[in-house]
Amino acid sequence: MKPLTTLEKLTDSLRCLPGVGAKSAARMSLHLLQHNRAGGLALAEALTEAMNRIGHCEQCRNYTEQPLCSLCADQRRDASVICVVETPSDVAAIESSRSFQGQYHVLMGHLSPLDGIGPDDIGLDKLEQRVQQGGVAEIILATGSTVEGEATAHYIGGRMAALGVGVSRLARGVPMGGELDYVDSSTIAQALSGRRPLG
Ligand code: ZN
Repeated sequence: MKPLTTLEKLTDSLRCLPGVGAKSAARMSLHLLQHNRAGGLALAEALTEAMNRIGHCEQCRNYTEQPLCSLCADQRRDASVICVVETPSDVAAIESSRSFQGQYHVLMGHLSPLDGIGPDDIGLDKLEQRVQQGGVAEIILATGSTVEGEATAHYIGGRMAALGVGVSRLARGVPMGGELDYVDSSTIAQALSGRRPLG
């Protein structure tokens, strides 16, 4: 097989982006070469930096460049309430609603036995450790209202209740799980204040 040309390599690499097929990848390559080489170089640099530097917060698993993310490191946040969400974009949406002062646990997905995603993959050992260290009064389950989101909430709720910590679920009707971006802030605030004990 002939080795790929540099242009072919670029086009091939662009296909790692979600929703980008062969045709749009080729179009992007040619566009950058013809119209925006400076933008292409800036993109390459930003990608390299982000991929090398960004890891997971030791406490909540959100993306961060530090051992602890800015929310976990913020002493003014209420460490007695932990909101469990599926994705970093859920954290961003709740934060922009300004209706939550506690901390987070980011699952980075949801339980999905068929895909081999079990409790260890969503960091439940870490969440249990936080609860066992004491000082946590409530876990708010803000996973999606999909079948997987509900099943994940049910499972985590069981494990947390066994540790004696209070567990609540967001009021219904809010599409969580990476879709919170589309929900306005007052709906998020209502879902949080209308949360009910899980039991
Ligand atoms: Zn954190």
